[in-house]
Amino acid sequence: MEKHLQHPVFKVLADTAAKHGIEAYVIGGYVRDIFLHRPSKDIDIVVLGNGIEFAELVAAQLKTKVAVFKNFGTAMLKFQDLEIEFVGARKESYRSDSRKPIVENGTIKDDQLRRDFTINALAISLNKDSYGALVDPFNGTEDLQNKLMRTPLDPEITFSDDPLRMMRAIRFASQLGFSIDEQALNAISLQKTRISIVSKERITDELNKIILSPLPSVGFKYLFDTGLLHLIFPQMANLYGVEVINGKGHKDNFYHTLQVLDNICEATGDLWLRWAAILHDIAKPATKRFEEGHGWTFHGHEDKGARMVPQIFAQLKLPLNEKMKYVQKLVQLHLRPIVLAQEVVTDSAVRRLLFDAGEDIESLMVLCNADVTTKNEYKVKKYRNNFELVKQKLKDVEERDKIRNWQPPISGNDIMTTFGLGAGKEVGLIKNAIREAILEGEITNSYEEAMEFMLRKAKELGLSPVNN
Ligand code: ATP
Repeated sequence: MEKHLQHPVFKVLADTAAKHGIEAYVIGGYVRDIFLHRPSKDIDIVVLGNGIEFAELVAAQLKTKVAVFKNFGTAMLKFQDLEIEFVGARKESYRSDSRKPIVENGTIKDDQLRRDFTINALAISLNKDSYGALVDPFNGTEDLQNKLMRTPLDPEITFSDDPLRMMRAIRFASQLGFSIDEQALNAISLQKTRISIVSKERITDELNKIILSPLPSVGFKYLFDTGLLHLIFPQMANLYGVEVINGKGHKDNFYHTLQVLDNICEATGDLWLRWAAILHDIAKPATKRFEEGHGWTFHGHEDKGARMVPQIFAQLKLPLNEKMKYVQKLVQLHLRPIVLAQEVVTDSAVRRLLFDAGEDIESLMVLCNADVTTKNEYKVKKYRNNFELVKQKLKDVEERDKIRNWQPPISGNDIMTTFGLGAGKEVGLIKNAIREAILEGEITNSYEEAMEFMLRKAKELGLSPVNN
């Protein structure tokens, strides 16, 4: 492993350790990522003894400052683009009501045993007589080769001690394309209710990492199969299942949603657009009806879904800001381009979509493309071609009418001063009438035509301009 310790900082760490007779190791994610060929800038160092004191000795050599976290017994220093964390090797024991362990000094093996997964428990020696040697008491390298998430301890104990590890297991599996060892998977199913002692923020942090992984369906299937999803995000688990009446079934909206999510990941790395994919059909269970002679319908699921978004964001401690509004808008509008693709389309329908989607029209088209999940190749081609036509129409109409960043050519203020009105109903009426006339194509999106239209409209309402 010595060749992987090329950075000069390892020499400083090793020399300082030797000089003071301290045993030190590189441990955890940095070592794992060497095997995964993922260069990392975060280095964790574990020493037998006091991690903070060792950090201070190293910092003096590197002429840099240390940040000490006394409560945690850890210290951190930055050197060039590296972030190095120090901790003393520890043995941990847990109480049932807290993720916070009781800590005592331990051996390197004790410290590896307290790590969550065998692939995260690998260590490399920085000691003189064994510099560069891999310390792998739990066969972590074998698990890396077999792409397997396994725990060093009995998994039931590991997950019960710190239930966040259940989310971490699934998150690593999704990020790395690994499987979770069968015993560990059973243990998650058995210990799932322990997730209740983990903060919502930490759970969502892991959930977002799953969503940002290359194939999030891997993680979501594990969450669903272990029952964790039902606890942390029941609305999504609720999408699962097919009901059959008179021999007619509908598609399973859980697996459909996962397919849409995986599809959208090919087109975007944006977390919020990926969230829109997760939530686009979230209200299907709540709006499901069987209509005689017609089959299954989900009327209004886009409206109800959009209304569910703030509540889901609040429940998951996601931000209640413009990101939420963006997701809400995409859920609300996700059927609109499909309608445009199927019917004879009027320019006014295209203008209305541009007006409603505004800046987010491209995101909406990405979502709609991902929403095509039929296995029928012919249909896929047909739908995708239709979307290309819709895109072309959107482009043509936008070039002509400039609707997507639409600002009313006549403001409420203009209306008030022209007719000597105070703020009130009539101003709103006239403003809406102007917008409708532009969207319907009765007048162009220009000041002159809007002015003329306004005067006509006002006359109908019995208003006349005041002389200024
Ligand atoms: P990533 O940076 O992708 O999150 P990482 O493994 O480096 O991966 P960290 O959270 O920085 O993640 O953790 C560093 C190391 O600390 C891990 O490799 C693991 O050995 C240990 N660790 C982290 N969290 C836990 C936990 N909840 N239980 C046990 N060990 C943990």
